[in-house]
Amino acid sequence: MKPSSPAKPSSRPALSAPQKALHKLGLTRAIDLALHLPLRYEDETRITRLADAREGETVQIEGEVVNCEVAFRPRRQLLVTLQDGTDTCALRFFNFYPSQQKALAVGARIRARGELRGGLMGWSMMHPQTRPAGGDLPKALTPIYPSVAGLPQPYLRKAVLGGLANADLSETVPPQLSASLKLKPLWTLRQALEFLHHPKPDVAMVQFEDHSHPAWQRLKAEELLAQQLSQLQSRRERDRLRAPSLNNLTGSGLQDRLLKVLPFELTRAQGRVSDEIAHDLAVPKPMHRLLQGDVGAGKTVVAALAAARCIDAGWQCALMAPTEILAEQHFRKLVAWLEPLGVRVAWLTGSQKKKERAAMLEMIASGEAGLVVGTHAVIQEQVQFQKLALAIIDEQHRFGVAQRLALRGKTLDDELEPHLLMMTATPIPRTLAMSYYADLDVSTLDELPPGRSPIVTKLVAEHRRAEVIERIRSQLALGRQVYWVCPLIEESEALDLRNATQTHAELTAALNDGQALNAQNPGISAMGQAQRAQPSPAATDVMVGLLHSRMPAADKKAVMSLFVQGQMGVLVSTTVIEVGVDVPNATLMVIEHAERFGLSQLHQLRGRVGRGSAASACVLLYATGEGPRLSESARERLKAMAQTHDGFEIARRDLDIRGPGEFLGARQSGAAMLRFADLGVDADLLAWARATAPLMLDKYPEAAARHVERWLGGRTDFLKA
Ligand code: ADP
Ligand code: MG
Repeated sequence: MKPSSPAKPSSRPALSAPQKALHKLGLTRAIDLALHLPLRYEDETRITRLADAREGETVQIEGEVVNCEVAFRPRRQLLVTLQDGTDTCALRFFNFYPSQQKALAVGARIRARGELRGGLMGWSMMHPQTRPAGGDLPKALTPIYPSVAGLPQPYLRKAVLGGLANADLSETVPPQLSASLKLKPLWTLRQALEFLHHPKPDVAMVQFEDHSHPAWQRLKAEELLAQQLSQLQSRRERDRLRAPSLNNLTGSGLQDRLLKVLPFELTRAQGRVSDEIAHDLAVPKPMHRLLQGDVGAGKTVVAALAAARCIDAGWQCALMAPTEILAEQHFRKLVAWLEPLGVRVAWLTGSQKKKERAAMLEMIASGEAGLVVGTHAVIQEQVQFQKLALAIIDEQHRFGVAQRLALRGKTLDDELEPHLLMMTATPIPRTLAMSYYADLDVSTLDELPPGRSPIVTKLVAEHRRAEVIERIRSQLALGRQVYWVCPLIEESEALDLRNATQTHAELTAALNDGQALNAQNPGISAMGQAQRAQPSPAATDVMVGLLHSRMPAADKKAVMSLFVQGQMGVLVSTTVIEVGVDVPNATLMVIEHAERFGLSQLHQLRGRVGRGSAASACVLLYATGEGPRLSESARERLKAMAQTHDGFEIARRDLDIRGPGEFLGARQSGAAMLRFADLGVDADLLAWARATAPLMLDKYPEAAARHVERWLGGRTDFLKA
């Protein structure tokens, strides 16, 4: 059923925008709409007399307009006085249309809904919702649904109503199994959904808000069951698949030879994790392992050792990284380690020249390349491996799940799947990993290589910028390098963020004592500057580079290599440097508008310094003055950053601040997320789902399939990756 568009003047074709928005929310099937539950409700079922109202309450009042004027006190506003027979209330509108003014003319009888404020001047409401008085009051609460821009609530409400009417809501969980759910009363899915979309006003609101109502419990149990079933299914499917067994090594001892040429000894944790991986690789079943280790823990060498084992057994290995900068860094490191040992390493990226690319594809297809390193380019269709046995994905959370799946489908041999090693520096607390990734084995690097000096983290208010610049000067004087990270590349009026381009110009001017290389043209690219600076770099010139995601790949590469080689003192950058970049001489990281970053992102960024043995610092600049105050959670994030450097502790706090749903959501783009259940709260329901899933899969396979299809639709593949 196509819900009709609400009457709203628009120059665009009336139906397409909200429907696109529905798709964006993943609401394509009737059942998806039926399972799209309200965020909260508004009570429009009653009218409150002003004489009975209390300050701060959100109420609906009804009465006659006795005054309507455009006032200037101090801002232009529409000021309407409503008289309900018991008292009057001022309604204020700062943005208003002529049509609104007309509907609120003196003499009109209207309903207004909003938060009541008291005060010397009597009752008032800011921007209340208004409508003509009269008509029946609704009998149920009015649902407010999670939505996106371009999808108005009335449209969404109608669509959901249609979904409820058309979806198959029959029970999937057999009564024998739902009986063990200790819910009283045990609601059916249909009862639960009909209730949650249109609850009677006599239910305590708190039961909706904390999702403790039996109807909520029922839905959460169903959702968790779907998630457990799907993971169990994919684990069982994977157990039936075969992968090359990588234990008949050629005897060239590639792994051992690599260990000998490394400029360091493995840490105990690296040794242990390498053993875990080697063990998996020797088994003819596809490995599905997540390697988690804090930034700087040394995951790359673990990956190199796994690759060496794979190549030594006569197979190919692919390593994929989310950005070109990071992929290239891996490439350089792995070439330096492995080519002297006789391994050919191929390089694949989107920005590559045609000829070079063709040569690489040939090397990969013929099997000449033992290792292939690259970006997303590695999973493009034209890339054919001769015999891929191991796929390694760095910073796995940055990849869409579909992309991870594509890598798995790269073997020529349909019988064999490659082993999969995923790496991440944003760890998932163990308890969460166990219950959430029923389908994944986890290895953890819980130790940093020796000799790292701790990073001192300072919170600094924005107005003390000048001191920060002084600090940069002193680091530069010591021959050190500095990162300066900005959250956005373009000025956004709404957010009023300083942008990277502007900061680049400012720093260039400040650090070159006013004789800025490019003061006239703040938009000049770092390359222009670099080219000018290179021929005769005056001793006092400080090269300040700019790196952001919209630059052409070649420019990014050039800027990055100037920084890596130490010619560039300061790198102003958006978060493109977030992952993996390894420049041990960089000792100071300044993060602008730190309050706008997520905790794990801040931790990732901070991990760019403190990679050598010199003392390093991270300055978190936060906004003060006009504009919104720091939110409670922003304050907690900054505090956590100042208090701890341990990635696992950071992850734990992140989990506390955000709750598991959002925590995992941010890490698993595209994955089927838990929408309703909360792993932190719903331990009992999760226990039920874990115990019930295998029973249901064995005894009621058809019901299980229906259940997974209902909840996860076409998205189950996501859970397998
Ligand atoms: P991450 O886990 O963040 O990917 P990297 O693999 O980039 O970390 O390693 C960070 C740095 O530590 C690199 O310069 C790497 O060569 C170095 N490194 C790795 N393992 C060791 C070790 N066992 N001893 C000393 N340095 C090491
Ligand atoms: Mg890394």
